[in-house]
Amino acid sequence: MTALTTFAAMLLLAPQTADKVPAPYDKIAPNSIMAHIKFLSSDLLEGRGTPSRGLDIAAEYIASQFQIAGIDPAGDDGYFQTTEYTNRRTQSTAKVRNVIGVLKGTDPKLKDTYVIVTAHYDHLGKREGEGDTIFNGANDDGSGTAGVIECARALAGLKPKRSIVFMCFWGEEAGLQGSRYYCQKPVFPLAKTIANVNLEQIGRTDDDEGPRVADFNITGFDFTNLSDIMTKAAKQFGVKVTKHERFSDPYFNASDNAAFANAGVPANTISTAYSFPDYHKVGDEWQKIDAANMTKIVRSACAGLWAIANSTEPVKWNESNPKTKRYVDAWKKLQGG
Ligand SMILES: [Zn+2]
Repeated sequence: MTALTTFAAMLLLAPQTADKVPAPYDKIAPNSIMAHIKFLSSDLLEGRGTPSRGLDIAAEYIASQFQIAGIDPAGDDGYFQTTEYTNRRTQSTAKVRNVIGVLKGTDPKLKDTYVIVTAHYDHLGKREGEGDTIFNGANDDGSGTAGVIECARALAGLKPKRSIVFMCFWGEEAGLQGSRYYCQKPVFPLAKTIANVNLEQIGRTDDDEGPRVADFNITGFDFTNLSDIMTKAAKQFGVKVTKHERFSDPYFNASDNAAFANAGVPANTISTAYSFPDYHKVGDEWQKIDAANMTKIVRSACAGLWAIANSTEPVKWNESNPKTKRYVDAWKKLQGG
């Protein structure tokens, strides 16, 4: 036995209690995260463009994962909220689908209120030409989609006070179309939807500005109190929540949370790296995902989601921030005021 293998044997025998992850968050694991991302970003799905066969296969995959987890379907066709997509240039049409599941709340007063965790499962499809032509979208937003599935797996079977909705959108890259459609035809009343937590680009730590480990951003950090809730939840996993001074506010409108915010629902997006080397390029592939770090990020987001679902206090717009005025006005309108 060499010194090294003796040391390795000692490590194996050492008690593994130091970093024990509490239930149910221990169900969120690197292997399952990577399994989702590898499938969704595989070349066979051809970049999940809107609309495409690859997009449809991704929708079927997400629905299957919700079903395995034991999350109830909440679409008009099983887990699918279906609609017709029209290509403005060619006028051709195709069926597209948001994927929606729900874990029903149990508190007599709060069960008909909702917190929604979301991600977009579409990406840019493929391009003409030689070499690698497929925009795999592993980080954007295979990672967020895997995060939604993992939250569903972790929380299924539990009894939250409020209902928790798990939702994945088509058409984000085509202008937030899936989320806008949902907000026009909500399955659960928007007036009773107390928060949207959107997951975008949570898999990569190789931020253009330097490594981002055990740390995530929230867009519109000072727009709602979601940042406080997430900061508390993430602490138990050794994860920090940061306000990106330059991008926090401008990126608030850059993802699907904006559709909910415009309708008045307090809504923010969680991301690790805002800009990374393969952003919207064919090189956004699964090999570059930091699975260990992403596991901590998803556990943190899931714990935040659980805290919201079990709090009697709804998530609130920060009315003292002048930048929230239009969202607060929309919220007041939603509440009938
Ligand atoms: Zn995205």
